[in-house]
Amino acid sequence: MAEKVIIIGSGPAGWTAAIYTARAALNPLLFEGAVTEENRLAGTLPLGQLALTTEVENYPGFPAGNLEQYLDSSLSRERRDGLPQHAKEGVTGPELMELMRQQAINFGTRVVTEDVTSVDFSVRPFRLNASDGQTYEAHAVIVATGARANYLGLPSEERFKNRGVSACAVCDGALPRFRNKPLVVVGGGDSAVEEADYLTKFGSVVYMVHRRDQLRASKIMAQRALNNPKIQIQWNRTLIEVLGDDQKGVTGVRLASTVGEPELELEAAGVFLAIGHTPNTAFLGGQLELTPKGYIKWTTPFRTYTSVEGVFAAGDVGDDYYRQAVTAAGTGCMAALDAERWLAAKGL
Ligand code: NAP
Repeated sequence: MAEKVIIIGSGPAGWTAAIYTARAALNPLLFEGAVTEENRLAGTLPLGQLALTTEVENYPGFPAGNLEQYLDSSLSRERRDGLPQHAKEGVTGPELMELMRQQAINFGTRVVTEDVTSVDFSVRPFRLNASDGQTYEAHAVIVATGARANYLGLPSEERFKNRGVSACAVCDGALPRFRNKPLVVVGGGDSAVEEADYLTKFGSVVYMVHRRDQLRASKIMAQRALNNPKIQIQWNRTLIEVLGDDQKGVTGVRLASTVGEPELELEAAGVFLAIGHTPNTAFLGGQLELTPKGYIKWTTPFRTYTSVEGVFAAGDVGDDYYRQAVTAAGTGCMAALDAERWLAAKGL
């Protein structure tokens, strides 16, 4: 029998959609993704991008404080033990995601630890093929598969992820390891400027490494970078190696020149990649309309409708602009309400 609603994705958007659809008695089935080496390398493991971060200081409702007892009492022993050491200064990304997951399960969400590998939205009910080899059917689908930060793909970058290499200054910039130290941001777009500007609050100097002699960022943002005395732009340079050791993590970078200058080494305690994101839409096989940048197109203002009636999108897979946990959760709620109303209107 077809499910009423299937949710694909296990970040804040997916779990919020699950909490709301479960409480609306729609008995949701949620695909959280498979635990595979391929997904680990791509940054698409269950629980999404937040599971790759440390402290989350801007999610409302979680001020600094010790959450140990709360985590102990709300999570199963097995899931609790699987979490990294508690930071004792507020919630971490993995903790927040485990809490959301548990909340969705408490209201009856059924979780499948598999990927949805392809879909057929041309038939009703919709058909979804999963990595367990099974085909699932649903009257409504909420796509909340998020996006992944782009990395350069350097082995040294991989080695120092979470030990000085990050793709989110807002998530990690305030960590003690970056205080009053030189920091590096790679990229020349609005995100790179925003990250560099933000990081000047913490670092002694922020080097922006850009592969050309002109920023891609909008004029106003570019001016912000040029005007900030703590930002030094390394024009015509690319990052070729993150330097460091097992004890200290990142200690510097090696840069190549795109205009024939000699290589350059800079001391740095952190490297922040800001070279864009890629939305996780490949499994859709082109069946939903996308924006020119490849994100799922929301077809109606203030709704989570997509180009296929009965398919809704929530979170970063449709949002290249806000990209925050709280906005993803917000659109997850909207998608659940949209799906609930659509199913009711269709008598499904
Ligand atoms: P983006 O505009 O696509 O810029 C990506 C930057 O990374 C570019 O400078 C690009 O260099 C560089 N890059 C890409 N691949 C690279 C590689 N392999 N090696 C070295 N450099 C590489 O992405 P974004 O900055 O994340 O912005 C995404 C969207 O969000 C944009 O529309 C932006 O306006 C918007 N946004 C707005 C704000 C704001 O207004 N406050 C803040 C953040 C984002 P090239 O320039 O040489 O291509």
